[in-house]
Amino acid sequence: MRLIFLGAPGAGKGTLASTIGKEIGLPQLSTGDLFRDAVKNGTELGLRVKGIMEKGELVPDELTVALVRERLGRADTAQGYILDGFPRTIPQAEALASFQRIDGVVNFQCGDEVVVRRLSGRRICRSCGAIYHVENMPPRREGICDRCGGELYIRDDDRIDSIRNRLRVYQAQTEPLIGYYRGRGLLHDIDAEQTVEKSLAQLRKVLKKLRKAG
Ligand code: AMP
Repeated sequence: MRLIFLGAPGAGKGTLASTIGKEIGLPQLSTGDLFRDAVKNGTELGLRVKGIMEKGELVPDELTVALVRERLGRADTAQGYILDGFPRTIPQAEALASFQRIDGVVNFQCGDEVVVRRLSGRRICRSCGAIYHVENMPPRREGICDRCGGELYIRDDDRIDSIRNRLRVYQAQTEPLIGYYRGRGLLHDIDAEQTVEKSLAQLRKVLKKLRKAG
């Protein structure tokens, strides 16, 4: 099954993609993670995108599409995948449609205030990538990952100025994709303001429906 998870930053796409991906055996492909890896490893791509990401702007479409195309060519995507954070613009969606057939798009609906609260409290493990939240999902020991003992950090783009900018960018450039995919009969809405468990239950129902249809 080839899926796209769409939604504002902080709507919970990444957390839910990781959980459901393990459950149904599909790889989660996060363009944000791919770019962050490139920055961490100091590659040429990383050097180009570092400043763009810190400000919460979007990486140019050509670079992003090339990265995704390369990633989707690998063997682990043969049975399908969950695209988390891609496409984020209409040209990206059109490029994707030119080389992949998508089975469904899940739209995680979440208001701005909830997004700001979630992102500003988010903490991530530097070693294993586990995601925490200072209020909703705190680690047992402050600043330390429960899973692997790694150090927890705040993403540069989870600072308040960057969060506000990412929301503006989302509304201007990514939100039009909701109409784009709804018009193609592919969109399924999820209430992402609920608890993770409730959103997951709703997501499982959507996937069941998609499996039946396929
Ligand atoms: P995310 O982890 O999905 O919030 O992505 C972090 C940052 O990576 C974004 O703010 C963008 O700078 C960049 N990025 C991730 N995915 C895309 C995309 N599909 N198009 C352009 N830039 C992206």
